[in-house]
Amino acid sequence: MQNSTEKYLRTEKLPHIWCAGCGNGIVLGAMVRAFDKMDCDQNNTVIVSGIGCSSRAAGYMDFNTLHTTHGRALAFATGIKMAKPNINVFVIMGDGDATAIGGNHLIHAARRNIDLTTIIFNNQIYGMTGGQYSPLTPLESIATTAPYKTIERNFDLPELAKAAGATYIARSTTYHAAMLTNLIVAGATHKGFSLIEAVTACPVSFGRRNKMGSGYDMLMWQKEHAVSAEKAKNLTPEEMQEKFVIGELYKTNAPEYTEVYDRLIERAQGKI
Ligand code: SF4
Ligand code: MG
Repeated sequence: MQNSTEKYLRTEKLPHIWCAGCGNGIVLGAMVRAFDKMDCDQNNTVIVSGIGCSSRAAGYMDFNTLHTTHGRALAFATGIKMAKPNINVFVIMGDGDATAIGGNHLIHAARRNIDLTTIIFNNQIYGMTGGQYSPLTPLESIATTAPYKTIERNFDLPELAKAAGATYIARSTTYHAAMLTNLIVAGATHKGFSLIEAVTACPVSFGRRNKMGSGYDMLMWQKEHAVSAEKAKNLTPEEMQEKFVIGELYKTNAPEYTEVYDRLIERAQGKI
């Protein structure tokens, strides 16, 4: 018998391609549970993804899905939202996909405050292409392109999104999967550009080189290093060293791009 979330999956596409211990399936599960909570209309929803292990998630979900080119998911999603503003548009990207190749699209989508719900699977590496470091790879990590450790500081994704103008920003982990579901619901309900960072484990391309153990060990790492936004308020910078904050991090209201654009059309037509 089909359970309530199964209708959101293209079960005929399973088994998935992900390695044993990969966290991507947990993020996919959190998304599907969020769709279920929202009683999502599959015909009125589009999921757009870029390229990489995480972006395969779009193909496993039974919606109108678009698997695009590396870094360009937000450009495609912007086009869809502009053409049909009433459609719910979700975007799935990996860390390198979103912040290196697609970094420009990310900051400008945030700046425009276009109503897209963006879920960034942050496994801290380019997994599919073999473990090259990305802008979210922590400083002094080993990668195939950094055999003597990275010397580049990583972005703090929520801070980047906030500075660029995103109006809903949250972060969770695959260990905190129930929280991730709730944050996806809150991001999708918010009018404007929502960014949800999902910290996830890649035991094969990141964990193995950085001696982080199995997928399970990496989940425990998330448990030990994540601090809720509420708790973080009472901790000193020293206590927060090597930790990261999870939960709803920022929320504000600002004019949404497609609505502003509609008013521009009316002005150009002399209606207002
Ligand atoms: Fe997951 Fe990493 Fe394997 Fe990709 S390479 S499927 S991110 S474990
Ligand atoms: Mg990645």
